[in-house]
Formats: sequence, C-alpha cells, structure tokens
Amino acid sequence: MEIVILAVVIAVVALGAISGLVVSSRKKKQLPPAPPSSPSVTAPPAEPHVGEEAETPGAEPRRTVEEVELPVPEAPAAEAPAEASVAPAEPEAPAAPAVEVPEPTAGRLVRLRTRLSRSQNSLGKGLLTLLSREHLDEDTWEEIEDTLLTADVGVAPTQELVERLRERVKVLGTRTPEELRALLREELLALIGTDADRSVHTEPGVGVNGEEKPGVVMVVGVNGTGKTTTTGKLARVLVADGKSVVLGAADTFRAAAADQLQTWGERVGARTVRGPEGGDPASIAFDAVKEGIAENADVVLVDTAGRLHTKTGLMDELGKVKRVVEKHGSVDEVLLVLDATTGQNGLVQARVFAEVVNITGIVLTKLDGTAKGGIVVAVQRELGVPVKLVGLGEGADDLAPFEPEAFVDALIGD
Ligand code: GDP
Repeated sequence: MEIVILAVVIAVVALGAISGLVVSSRKKKQLPPAPPSSPSVTAPPAEPHVGEEAETPGAEPRRTVEEVELPVPEAPAAEAPAEASVAPAEPEAPAAPAVEVPEPTAGRLVRLRTRLSRSQNSLGKGLLTLLSREHLDEDTWEEIEDTLLTADVGVAPTQELVERLRERVKVLGTRTPEELRALLREELLALIGTDADRSVHTEPGVGVNGEEKPGVVMVVGVNGTGKTTTTGKLARVLVADGKSVVLGAADTFRAAAADQLQTWGERVGARTVRGPEGGDPASIAFDAVKEGIAENADVVLVDTAGRLHTKTGLMDELGKVKRVVEKHGSVDEVLLVLDATTGQNGLVQARVFAEVVNITGIVLTKLDGTAKGGIVVAVQRELGVPVKLVGLGEGADDLAPFEPEAFVDALIGD
C-alpha cells in the first residue's frame, strides 16, 4: 500500500516537473515576439514619412529620396529623406565597394575617336577623295555638295563651305594631299566654330534665400533620344571631375525612367530624388534641388519627360518644371538631347524645345551609329547654341565633351 502511495506521489511530482518545463519553454518561445520593437526601423515605414514631409514644402505631392549607397549606413537611410541633417553620412560612405570610379573626362573624345571615324568615313574621307581629283569640274563640286547634304550639314552651311573651298582651291592651284587635308580641316572647323563656350555650366550659385545653391542642370528632349542615359552618363562625368551630384527623376511619364536613373546614380554614389509614377515632375524637380541644397551638393541634374506628340502639354510641363525649380534660384544649364541618327527630325524637335525653354547646350547622342555627323553644324545653326557633349556608345563612359578639333580630325583622319 505504502509502496503504491509512494509511486503515485512520485508520478505526480514527475508530471508537475514536466509540465513546468513545458510551460517555461513555451514562455521562452513567446518572448521572442518582443523584437518587433527593434526591427520596426525597417525600410517600409521610412517611405510614408518621406512622402508626407515632401508635401510640406508647399510645392506639391510626394517624393521619395532614395538612399544611394545601400552598403554601410543602414540606419541613416531611414532618416535620409528628412531634412538637412541627413547629409553628413553620405560623403564619407564612398568607402563602399559598389561605387565605381568613372573614367576621367579629359581626352574622352580622343579615345572614342575611332567610333566617330568609323561612322563618319563617308563625310570626311569622301570629301578628301573628291577634292583630290585632278580636275575639279562642276560634277565633282556637285558630288561634294551631295556628300555634305547627305551628312546632314544643312543647305546653307553646305553652300557656304563649297564656296569657300572653291575659292581656296583655286588660289592653291596644284594641291598636295597634305595641303588639301589642312584646308578642309580649317574650313570644317570654321563651320563648326572653335570659340563657343562648350563647358557645361554647373558652378554653384546663390539661392533665393541667400544660401549656397548647387549648379542646376535640366536635361530635356524627346523620349528615346537617350535623355535618361545621358543624364546618368553626365552624372559620371561630373563625379569624375570631383563633384557631388544629386539626380532628380522628373521623367515620371516613362515607367522605367526613375529606376534607370537611380541605377546610374547608385553606381557613382549619387542620390536620386524620385516620386510616384505619373507624379508631378515639377514637384520632383523642386525637391531634387531642395535636397541638393540640403546636402550641399555641387550639382543637381534633373531628367525630364519629353512627349512631342502632345506638344502643348509638353510645353506647359517643361515650362512649369523650370519655373518651379527657379523658386530655389537659377537653372544654370538646359541641355537638349538629340539623337543624331534622326536627321531632319532632330532639327524639328530642336525647334519645338527651343520655343519652350531657353536651351543653353546640345547633346548629340548616337553619333557612333550614324554617318550624319553634319548634324553638329546644322543644329548649332538652327538654335544658335553650341553642341557641348556627344554620345558615342552605350557604355557608361561613352559621353564626351565636344571638342571641334578632335571631331574634325576624326572625320578626315590625320
Ligand atoms: P530616353 O527615353 O530619352 O530617356 O532614352 P534612354 O536614355 O532610355 O536611351 C534610349 C536608348 O538609346 C538606350 O538603349 C540607350 O542605351 C541608347 N543610347 C543612348 N545614348 C547612346 C549613344 O550615344 N550611342 C548609342 N549607340 N546608344 C545610345
């Protein structure tokens, strides 16, 4: 009997101990749910804040400031959107391996020269061959004219050039190949112009409130010309020149444009200010410059949308973007991006854009894929504005400052 009682007691104690263990282990398992308080600093909440704050500036809707270097500073990323206080973490971060060092800009056109000469053979070399003929009869002069027109030099500049060449060849009498090359080089250079200011103006200035304001560059053009790519490449050019850059993704019309721009920016550590798809471009442009001022950036590049088929809308929108940005201070450069392969169409675009905004420089893209380099001359004539940059490929550093001498040398060879 006693044995039975003892056995029952032992059994009860043992059961109690086991259930105690279970409970306490359950309790332990229940504890973990506490962490939510720490992970609550996760990315999602950050965005709503950003949007709300962006509305306050009185300008317009929401924007999202994307943190550039994902690498080291995680926490600052959540604050980034806020105000000026965010900036500090940024400049030091480039220690991160993800950020590339773009190729220096000096001499880029020389590096890319083979692409030019490959595509422009028919212009420069064609002219030289024709001029080298023993008898420069009317037919030959006509061929020279056709060569220039085919290369999109434009009617008036072609006639001018042919006239000059006729005169000078006559004076020259017998011509050696070297003399001809030198003569053609000189005349082509005169046509393109060597004394225009081709620098992209990005110097910081003074904002409306007396604060230091970054240089502001607006990039405009019809979609498909290479506008976003050019904005990204230009960011690299500026970074290569030692400047800090903020990008404004104000092309809210084309779905992928903001992502595309942000990717370009991330590669060189440039922050991208963006907004919702279909959002108000002027508001994003405004916020981008505001961000640039807050973080003391050297330059703000604003990518815009270009829709030629809705010309009136485009005019209103671009004009508005510029006016809204100017609430911070001056826009220092308005670059028109033209696809060199589109010939006369490019000139029509140039005209339309020039009505909307005061274009201060031209970027000719895709010069690697066309023999129509004469568009350089035609478009400068059309707008009275210099070509400042040329795109010579899809590579990240295939955008070069335009240098007339290197360009002409590429056309006619040394
Ligand atoms: P957007 O709509 O004007 O912003 O055009 P994108 O920037 O998206 O460019 C359209 C296409 O043109 C892309 O495939 C670019 O890689 C290409 N592109 C841009 N610039 C050049 C260039 O200089 N040379 C070549 N070959 N392609 C270019």
